[in-house]
Amino acid sequence: MSAPPAPPEHAPYGPLPEGGRVRPMTRWGTPVMHRPQARVEHFDEELRQLVADMVATMYAADGVGLAACQIGVDLAVFVFDCPDASGERTVGVVCNPDVDLPEGKDRHLDVDDEGCLSFPGAFVDCARPDFATVHGVGLDGEPVTFSGDGLLARCLQHETDHTLGTVFGDRLPTKARKKLQKAHDKAVADYPDGWPATS
Ligand code: ZN
Repeated sequence: MSAPPAPPEHAPYGPLPEGGRVRPMTRWGTPVMHRPQARVEHFDEELRQLVADMVATMYAADGVGLAACQIGVDLAVFVFDCPDASGERTVGVVCNPDVDLPEGKDRHLDVDDEGCLSFPGAFVDCARPDFATVHGVGLDGEPVTFSGDGLLARCLQHETDHTLGTVFGDRLPTKARKKLQKAHDKAVADYPDGWPATS
């Protein structure tokens, strides 16, 4: 997921693996982005290296979250480094995510700007529940749970969607989808093939 234009901080910290290679961003329309991803079965060095590449690519692209399909890999895993409504940042890696959303009277929709690194340069209002919990497993195969509100709630939903083959454009009404397409068309020259990798 891409953040609305705001001053991001980029220093990787926390438990995210470092030393990865920045990879070109896979764009909407590429088949791998539009089908459910394979479950992670092997928690090995290859997975760690993939996740390190995802982290490097997320930061290079000024993102707050990135799923493996966004660098062309068919695997249900995402990384994030994202603030909640209070501004507190949470970082994490989630393999095989499941999202829990509030229901009934606890369900409140938050309408706010949303963008996607795989459809860069465009933001549009998207309604989503204002709180989300994601369960999955971490890099070591042990269970992990992350919860949050604000942008973090949006990010956890957006990235879990990617692992299921859904992009946020799929969740938009036609008018908003057209607005998003227009904004993307206008900005796309700033994101040449290969972005954000430099070579
Ligand atoms: Zn996205």
